[in-house]
Amino acid sequence: MREYPRNLPEFEAQFTTEAACRDYLLRLRWPDGFRCPRCGHPKAWPIEKTLFQCTRCRYRASLTSGTIFENTRKPLRLWFRAMWWVTSQKTGASALGLQKVLGLGSYETAWTWLHKLRRAMIRPGRDRLSGAIEVDETYLGGPEEGLRGRETQNKALIVVAAQEDGKGVGRIRLHRVPDASADSLVSFIEDVIEPGSLVKTDGWKGYAGLKTKGYRHQVLILSRRNETASDLLPRVHRVVSLLKRWLMGTHQGAVSHEHLDYYLDEFTFRFNRRSSRHRGLLFYRLLQQAVAAEAVPYKDMVAHCRGPKPHGYKM
Ligand SMILES: [Zn+2]
Repeated sequence: MREYPRNLPEFEAQFTTEAACRDYLLRLRWPDGFRCPRCGHPKAWPIEKTLFQCTRCRYRASLTSGTIFENTRKPLRLWFRAMWWVTSQKTGASALGLQKVLGLGSYETAWTWLHKLRRAMIRPGRDRLSGAIEVDETYLGGPEEGLRGRETQNKALIVVAAQEDGKGVGRIRLHRVPDASADSLVSFIEDVIEPGSLVKTDGWKGYAGLKTKGYRHQVLILSRRNETASDLLPRVHRVVSLLKRWLMGTHQGAVSHEHLDYYLDEFTFRFNRRSSRHRGLLFYRLLQQAVAAEAVPYKDMVAHCRGPKPHGYKM
């Protein structure tokens, strides 16, 4: 059997039953066969449909524990359909759209599922960018150019790293930061860029310490009067304008501060795989990462936005 379905008919033929979905998850979770998470033994008895007991130490390992499918009462088939739909939307998915497509009774469920899936889009311990990389910060929900400063009630400050690939953009990383201080900017760079890489920035003092952290640092300065920041760092600025258009188009610009990180993750996931030949590959990657992601209960996801209505960006 093919690793992943290439199109909708193949998807539908492959995942007709719960058992087929479970087997697929099993192969993704333990690609080289079962391994006891406690003692490493390769043999287990099935106890329930998604529960296995190690034949040596008797440890019970669940197929779904610690993944986004943990404790779900909905069939895996429905989850798979959600993931297929999310990854086959060219631009992005909205909770309302997902609710319609799956026939879910509640908007809240669709919203929770989407956020769980977005969480799975960024793989823990993913590799860092290398080569030549442009880095710059920008505001979302506020004026793009202007004085450097801090995140406010209305504006979020994000840093963008865009890898050079000839004249085009390779892979990207995005992150929200509380301010444009050296602490915030340099720790982002250390998180997402391999030391030894060439980092290109403007002359902001927040980037001054990069050389001491093991990076080659090229500072670009505006030379002509009519030159703008986007001439200096064209890739970052292309990414930022695509991001803004995407937030406007798919989410009507109404993204709350609290959940912006998830949207940035979804954008990054889509952008870095924009040239994948088959949509099915995105589905496969997402599922692969979903069985590796740690579960976050709904209450933790919304806990910090109780009380006043979450603020939405206007762009
Ligand atoms: Zn064991």
